[in-house]
Amino acid sequence: MPSPPAPDVAPDVAGLAAELDKTRYALPGTLSRRFMRCGKANCRCKADPPALHGPYFHWTRTIAGKTVSRTLSADQAARYQPWFDNARQFRERLSDLETRSLHAFDEAERPD
Ligand SMILES: [Zn+2]
Repeated sequence: MPSPPAPDVAPDVAGLAAELDKTRYALPGTLSRRFMRCGKANCRCKADPPALHGPYFHWTRTIAGKTVSRTLSADQAARYQPWFDNARQFRERLSDLETRSLHAFDEAERPD
C-alpha cells in the first residue's frame, strides 16, 4: 500500500483553515459593475461617443439552481467588496487544493 500523499497537501490545508478561522465574512456569488443605455431616444447614452449611465452594481448568485440578482448602491458595493473578495479567494485556493489533491490521488493510486 502506498504511503498517503498528505505531506504535500497538509500545510496548505492548515493555512487555509487558519485563514478561514480569521475571516468573519464571505459573500457568495459575484459583484459586477456595469454601465448601461436607457430607453430614451435623445439621451446622452445614445450620443457619439455615448455617455452611459452608471456604474450600476449587480450582485448575482445562484439560489436553489436559480440565478438571483440584486442591485447594490455604490456605497454598498464598496462596503461589501472585501466580503466578495474573501469568498473568491477561498474558492480559488480550494480549487487549487482540489487539483493538487487529485494529482496526489492519481500518483498514489496509479495501477502497477
Ligand atoms: Zn440614457
